[in-house]
Amino acid sequence: MRFSSEELELLTLLAQHVATVFENARLFDSATFEGLTGLYRREAVLEILDREWSRAARYERPLAIAVADLDRFKEINDRHGHLAGDLVLQRVAAEIKTQLRETDFLGRFGGEEFLIVLPETSLEGARTFAEKVRQRLEALAIPLDDGAILRVTTSIGIASREEVGGQGRARSRALIAAADEALYAAKHRGRNRVEAAAAAGA
Ligand code: GH3
Ligand code: MG
Ligand code: MG
Repeated sequence: MRFSSEELELLTLLAQHVATVFENARLFDSATFEGLTGLYRREAVLEILDREWSRAARYERPLAIAVADLDRFKEINDRHGHLAGDLVLQRVAAEIKTQLRETDFLGRFGGEEFLIVLPETSLEGARTFAEKVRQRLEALAIPLDDGAILRVTTSIGIASREEVGGQGRARSRALIAAADEALYAAKHRGRNRVEAAAAAGA
């Protein structure tokens, strides 16, 4: 089969267009998801939280979050190397994923910190979720090539819209601050545990 020069020109244009579409999709993907774990990037999951906050505040629906931070993670890197640490992060991300509902969102919030957005979930629901995640991660055994088996524990802070209150989109930051404070309390009380944010004014 032979193409006329007009047909060739058209095909070339079409091919360029398809390439652009793929490139845009790839750019969108790398702006939304991070490379190591495939989870939402910090900025992406914060945007999701803002949206869910607005929706929950508007319709007066429950909304909770969990901030999970791996315990003494620096020791894993120091003892087994950064690549082993990376492997642990991947396995932990995959394990948390198995506990999510289809409507939940999981993001990598920082180095070894994860933010989970739980729409339509009360503080008690978040506690059940977080406790399950904590137990699953505690039970996780990650074998390395050198025969070592890595284990990791996790501290989790939870907070819900009910305690934080307020309407504006910016209040979602107060929700994070509350979960962060609870996480800090979990670390302070010995790690490998779940703590909930105290009600405002409590
Ligand atoms: P704590 O129980 O108080 O949370 O102790 P920690 O050691 O987990 O806390 P710290 O914040 O001191 O250390 C976090 C460590 O996480 C430091 C850094 O080496 C490691 N880390 C952060 N991002 C990555 C990553 O992408 N890969 C690896 N391998 N390590 C990472
Ligand atoms: Mg940390
Ligand atoms: Mg840590």
